[in-house]
Amino acid sequence: MIWQSEIETMNPSDLQNLQLERLRTTVARVYHRVPFYRKKLDEMGVKPEGIRGLEDVHKLPFTRKSDLRENYPFGLFAVDRKEVVRIHGSSGTKGKPTVVGYTRNDITHWSEIVARAITIAGGRSGDVFHNAYGYGLFTGGLGLHYGAERLGMSVVPVSGGNTPRQVMILEDFRPRGIAGTPSYVLNIAETMEQMGKDPRQTSLEYGIFGAEPWSEEMRKILEAKFNLRALDIYGLSEVMGPGVGMECFERQEGMHVAEDHFYVEVIHPLTGENLPMGEPGELVFTSLTKEAFPILRYRTGDIAFLYPEPCSCGRTHIRMSRIKGRIDDMVIVRGVNVFPSEIESVVMNHPALSPYYQVEVTRAGTLDEIAVFAEVSDSVFKDQGGFNPESDLFRRVRHELKTALRNTLLISTDVTLLAPNTLPRSTGKATRLVDKRHLYEDSGEGLPV
Ligand code: ADP
Ligand code: ZN
Repeated sequence: MIWQSEIETMNPSDLQNLQLERLRTTVARVYHRVPFYRKKLDEMGVKPEGIRGLEDVHKLPFTRKSDLRENYPFGLFAVDRKEVVRIHGSSGTKGKPTVVGYTRNDITHWSEIVARAITIAGGRSGDVFHNAYGYGLFTGGLGLHYGAERLGMSVVPVSGGNTPRQVMILEDFRPRGIAGTPSYVLNIAETMEQMGKDPRQTSLEYGIFGAEPWSEEMRKILEAKFNLRALDIYGLSEVMGPGVGMECFERQEGMHVAEDHFYVEVIHPLTGENLPMGEPGELVFTSLTKEAFPILRYRTGDIAFLYPEPCSCGRTHIRMSRIKGRIDDMVIVRGVNVFPSEIESVVMNHPALSPYYQVEVTRAGTLDEIAVFAEVSDSVFKDQGGFNPESDLFRRVRHELKTALRNTLLISTDVTLLAPNTLPRSTGKATRLVDKRHLYEDSGEGLPV
C-alpha cells in the first residue's frame, strides 16, 4: 500500500475544503492563545470568524524571523509549556537561535509527513535507512528519524561527521536509502574515493537531500557517484522541519507540498504581493494543523515558484520548484541578482573542475564584487603533475570558467583555481557564500578598513 495515497490524490476542491477548515481552526487558535497574533489581527481588524474562504488568507499578517527573535524563546507558543514535548531551533549563527516547539500531536503529524515524504522518494518499510543529517536542535536529524521509524524502517542515526565511520557503516549495514545535506553526502563519496573504494558499489538506491540549495548539476554528480536516485526535500524549523515539500521518485521535478498541513503562497519579496503560479518569488507558509507553534504566513526568504500543471505521478498536492537560494544569499552585482546556486551549476558543468566551490563577496566603493574559488579535478591535477596556476591548461580552464560564468550570470567575476582538497568540506550545511562586505568601509576606494 502506498502510504496515505488517499490524502495525496485528493481532488483539489476537497483538499481546499480541508485546508479552509484547518485554516479557520489555526487562526482561532492563535487569536485566542498567542498575544502577538491577537494584537496583530486586532490592528488589522481581522476576526477569526472573518476567514470564510481560502482567499481570506491574504487578510492575515505576515510572520517574520525577527518576530520569532523578539519573542525568544517561547513567546509565540500557543500551548502551556508543559504540553511541549520537543523544542528545536535554527542554527542561530547570527545571535540567538529561533526556537520552535511541538506537542505530542505535532510530533505525530510531523512523523507522518516525513514517513510519507520518504515513501514519495521511493523508500519502503523494512529498508535500512542511513540518516546522515545532524541530530540536535537542527530539525533534519530527528525529523527524518521519527518519519523513518514511523514508516517502519531500520533507521541508522549516524548524524553528520566522522566520515570514515560512515563509510564503514554504509558498507556493512547495506542501507537502501540515505538522507543528508547534498554537500555532506558528496563529502562521503569523496572520502570513499580517497580510501580507494567505489561509491557505486554501495547498496544505496535513493538519496533524500535537502537543508541547503543545490543544483541539477549536483544531482547528476551525486546520482553518478553513488548510482542512486537523488531527490529533493524541503523544510524549515519555523514551519515544521523537513517534509514540508518532497520531490517524487516518479517525476523528479518539483517537490509536492504537504498541503493537508501547510498552505503555500509565493509573494514578491519587496511588495509582499501574491504572484501568479509559475512566477518565482518568496515562499510563504501557513501551518494548518500545528498546536504548539502555529504560524501565519511565514516569510521564508527562500526563492522558488509553484508549478501550474499537475504532476504525472497522480498526486494532486501542488509542486514547488527547487529553491534558487535564500534572499539573504543573493548578491547584487552591477544591478544583476546572483545566487550561489547559479554559480554552482556553471562550476559543476566544467569537466576539469571538481564539485567544490566557494563564492566570496567583497565591496569596491559602493559596488559589490564576486570572486569564485573552484578546485581543479584530481585527474587534471595528476595529469599536470601538480598545481601550476600559470600552466597553459590552468589558464585555459580559468578562462573557460570566467566566460561560462559571464554567459550565465551576465556579469564578470574574478576566478581563482585551487588544488584539489583545498576548500573546507561540509558535514552539514555547506558555506557557499563568504561575505566580506562588512570588512570594507564605504570610503569609495574599496579598501579594507
Ligand atoms: P536555518 O538554516 O535558518 O538555521 P533550518 O535549519 O530550519 O534553519 O533550515 C531551513 C532553511 O534551509 C530553509 O529556509 C532553506 O533556506 C534551506 N533549505 C531547506 N531545504 C532546502 C532545499 N531542499 N533546497 C534548498 N534550501 C533548503
Ligand atoms: Zn509527482
